[in-house]
Order: sequence, then C-alpha cells, then structure tokens
Amino acid sequence: MIKVLDEHERTMAFAEVALGQIKSLRQTAVPRNYEIWYVYATGYNSPLNKIINETLARNGKLTEADLEQIYETYLSQIKTTDRIDKVGSRVIGEIDDVMTLIGEALGMAASYDDNLTGATLKLSVAQKPDQIKAIVESLVKSTREMRETNKALEDRLSLSKNEISNLQQSLEAIRAESLTDPLTGLGNRKYFDRSIETAVQNALASGEPLTLLMFDIDHFKSFNDSYGHLTGDQVLRLVGMSLKQTIKGQDITARYGGEEFAVVLPNTALRQALTVADHIRRAIMAKELKKKSTGEILGRVTISVGVSMLKPGDDTDALIERADACLYAAKRNGRNRVICEVDPEYAAEAHSQVQVA
Ligand code: GH3
Ligand code: MG
Ligand code: MG
Repeated sequence: MIKVLDEHERTMAFAEVALGQIKSLRQTAVPRNYEIWYVYATGYNSPLNKIINETLARNGKLTEADLEQIYETYLSQIKTTDRIDKVGSRVIGEIDDVMTLIGEALGMAASYDDNLTGATLKLSVAQKPDQIKAIVESLVKSTREMRETNKALEDRLSLSKNEISNLQQSLEAIRAESLTDPLTGLGNRKYFDRSIETAVQNALASGEPLTLLMFDIDHFKSFNDSYGHLTGDQVLRLVGMSLKQTIKGQDITARYGGEEFAVVLPNTALRQALTVADHIRRAIMAKELKKKSTGEILGRVTISVGVSMLKPGDDTDALIERADACLYAAKRNGRNRVICEVDPEYAAEAHSQVQVA
C-alpha cells in the first residue's frame, strides 16, 4: 500500500532537506538560500539542481557569488517591465549618442563646404604659385579632416549597429518571455488571444477550415489535494510536454488558464481535429505518473476535450464559447472523452442551455 503524504508532511520534508544543506555547507540561513535549497529539495527545477550539483562536484562548496548567480538565473523573477525599462533606456542612450555624432558630422560637413567655397573664391583671384600652393594645402588639410571624421563616424555607426542588434535580440527575448507560460513553456493566455485572432481572421479570409480544441484535466483538484500543489505543477508540465510532442507545425498550443489548455488547428477540418484531440487524450492518459524522488506511483490523469470548428460569419469569441460548451458536455458525460459540435451530447447541452436562458 502506498503511503500518501499530506501537504504538511511533504513540505516539511523539503524544508528539512533545505535546512540540512544550509547547515552542512555552513551557509547563512537567509530566505534566498533557503529558497534555493528548498527548490533543490523538491527537484522541480532541474537546471537549478544540475548547476548546484556541478558546482559542488567541481569546487566542493557554493560561494556567495555562486548563490547570487544561481538565484538570479534560476529563481529571481526580475519583472519583464523592469527589463523592458532597462533595454528601453539603452535604446534611448544609443540613439542619443548616434544623434550627437551625426550632429558633429553635419557641422564638419558644413565647415568643409565653407572651406571649399572659400578656396574656389581665393583660387579665382590667386596669381602667385605660393598663393595657389597655400590654398591647395589648406584644401588637402580640410579634406583629410573630413575623411577622419567620416572614418570615426563609420566606426561608431558600426559599433552602434552591433549594439542595436543586441538590443533587438534582448527585446525579442523579452517579447517571447512575455508570451510564454513559465510552468509549461507553452504559450500563455496573451499569446493564445493574439494567435487565435490572427488565425481566425486568416481562415475567414481564405475560406480554409479551422478548428479549436479546449481541454481540461479531469478531477485535478482532488489530485492536488492528494499529492500536493507542487506535484500538481509537475503534472501540468507533463501535460505541456505531451502537447508539445503531439502538436507540430503551424498549430497553436497554449495554457489557457490553470489546468485548461487550448490548441488551434489552422487548415484542419473537424474529422482530423477529432483525431488530433483523441491522440492528445490518449498520450496524456498513457503516462503513468511516478514521483522521481520516492518512486511513489501517483496513477494517471485524464483530460476532457471540447472541439469547435469555425463557420462562415463566425468570430473568435463564438468559436471559443462553443469549444468550451463541448468541453462542458464532455465533463457532464463522464470525462476522459472528446466531444465536438456535431455530437448529440453537445446538442443536448446547447439545447438545455437555451431552455435555461
Ligand atoms: P473537473 O474534472 O470538473 O475539471 O474537476 P477539477 O477538479 O479538475 O476542476 P476544478 O475546476 O474544480 O479544479 C481545478 C483545479 O486545478 C483547482 C486547482 O487546484 C488546480 N489548479 C489550477 N491551476 C493550477 C496550477 O497552476 N498548479 C496546480 N498544481 N494546480 C492548479
Ligand atoms: Mg478547470
Ligand atoms: Mg479540471
């Protein structure tokens, strides 16, 4: 018989491991270090565990700088807005520098132009070779200065080009992060809202079919209650992974909300969408959940899926509402199943909703 630990026992065990590590490595028991070791004890952040194990294997200890670095890289959630502010001020600084430089170069070009005009005038009245020689020398001098200024401008602009391309990459990384769900690595709700809108507009314009799957984990609350929220999070990750393995190409996958996920299938008719939905359902059900640290078997989770298809004159909200109603019908009809708009279960559901309204 498997002993199911409750949330208190489970988290106390992690806390004890964390404090044990702090003691044996003689670190300060400040919240940052406790958080690092607590997360380490849960094993849920494998890159963090990997770097700690590697550093300990190499140096036998973690220095203050190591801890700070690990925290910054793997735990601290520096707000996206702060990062955007930082990149934004770098962009402004870079533009300021380039503007100053362009201003200087323009000034230089204007004075070069004055020199040329002056030299032309002087040449028209010069008679002696010495006079002509002096004018030519002054022209050579200002041409050399102009060339030097141009060279400096070119060098600086080339540096600027690199800096701007770095800034572009930073902005792209921030943008990607702001559209990603950190737990599962899937697109987040914002990503979903944007992508489905574009996909729907494209499908309406081209007349290509488009289908939407919305699914929700069955009885997830009781899973969380039995095994703890952190283990629940692991299951969400696993569902995200199964989804990534099953869905490819132009299809849009996202975590729609807590334990709800959505998949938009452009250029996909209902029959194929149902096959995809069932494939996802089976893939998730096929995974036997096992706690790595204890080997404890946690069973399996199932999902219920609702599938809707885009109709002429439809809009995104209506499409989502119908997928949601199908999902609800799937729950009401026993869970662990796929229901679409042409199924009698959906019709019954829609009918009863009309009557209620
Ligand atoms: P149903 O089969 O009807 O969907 O039942 P359910 O228990 O899954 O549905 P319910 O909406 O009652 O519960 C959803 C639960 O999902 C509540 C919450 O404990 C869990 N949940 C939502 N977001 C997260 C999350 O980010 N992490 C974890 N671990 N659990 C979450
Ligand atoms: Mg739910
Ligand atoms: Mg649920």
